[in-house]
Amino acid sequence: MSEPSRAIVAVAPGGPEVLVLREVERPVAGRGELLVKVAAVGVNFIETYQRDGTYKVPFPFTPGSEAAGTVVEVGPGVHGFAVGDQVATAEGSGAYAEYTLIRAEVALPVPAAVPLDIAAALPLQGMTAHYLMNSAYHVEPGQNVLVHAGAGGVGLLLTQMLKDRGARVITTVSTDEKEELSRVAGAHDVLRYDGFADAVRELTDGDGVDVVFDGVGKDTFDGSLASLRIRGTLVLFGGASGQVPPLDLQRLNSGGSLFVTRPTLGHYLLNAKERRWRSAEVFNAVAEGRLAARIGERYSLADAGQAHADLQARKTTGKVILLP
Ligand code: NDP
Repeated sequence: MSEPSRAIVAVAPGGPEVLVLREVERPVAGRGELLVKVAAVGVNFIETYQRDGTYKVPFPFTPGSEAAGTVVEVGPGVHGFAVGDQVATAEGSGAYAEYTLIRAEVALPVPAAVPLDIAAALPLQGMTAHYLMNSAYHVEPGQNVLVHAGAGGVGLLLTQMLKDRGARVITTVSTDEKEELSRVAGAHDVLRYDGFADAVRELTDGDGVDVVFDGVGKDTFDGSLASLRIRGTLVLFGGASGQVPPLDLQRLNSGGSLFVTRPTLGHYLLNAKERRWRSAEVFNAVAEGRLAARIGERYSLADAGQAHADLQARKTTGKVILLP
């Protein structure tokens, strides 16, 4: 008989209260899998979309695709991992738990210099920042870039990585505290959302920015298009304020022959080589002190609902983690 363990279960689509802590059977590592004792769980906005029914998932389910921890069991057919190894992933499932199964092919080795709580803050938001600026759009030194929610999880990492590239980073934030965090991360100019498109034009001598990275969505989309230079690119990567309604393509013509893309991380982790490239660049930058992951809020596993509520109410900064 397997041992008991605890996990969060989303019992039905709804608000944060549908996330309840339950006793469950401890999973057993199957073929190609690692059983990991979770040290920290990364909370991401996508889990709020799944929980409230915006993204369709079957209920009941245990949310969570990002975690870091220690391997306690290695399933048959796994090579390259052993009991005691420290691993993390952005592509797990059921990570809001004391124990989670991770397919070995998506497990990322955690360098010894990176503590496990930091390791839980990096895979999803770090590899997202990496693909946004390297692959969804390749940012060149000297380019003007607008990043929304500059003090958020993706925002703080992306700003630092863009600054390191030599781009000029303009961000938007909602509070003074967030403005300070965004500046420390390297933003050249920090704006409030109100009238940001006009402010961006002023800051760029009327030209507009080369690229906008927009994870806020519904509330910022129009202003993001209006902030672009001729032939600029809008990378719409999320909808923290709500999903963007259908777009009339003629707006891209009249806006200046603009480009819009709506990427998702999974399509930028197509194989082991791509996954290792992105994760190694992110983890090594942290291990070498060139990139800092800020853990803004820590919650116990039982308080997962509160973590969702705070994330959706814009109360969090940097990374939100759960500690089982
Ligand atoms: P954040 O930590 O950035 O939190 C979201 C932030 O959005 C808030 O803190 C808030 O910052 C800002 N915001 C603006 N308007 C609203 C609103 N109406 N309600 C709530 N928040 C608002 O979250 P993450 O870093 O986890 O994710 C950022 C975005 O990136 C999300 O949309 C997420 O879905 C997306 N994402 C997409 C991926 C992809 O591959 N496509 C992968 C990873 C994340 P402020 O108060 O300063 O405005």
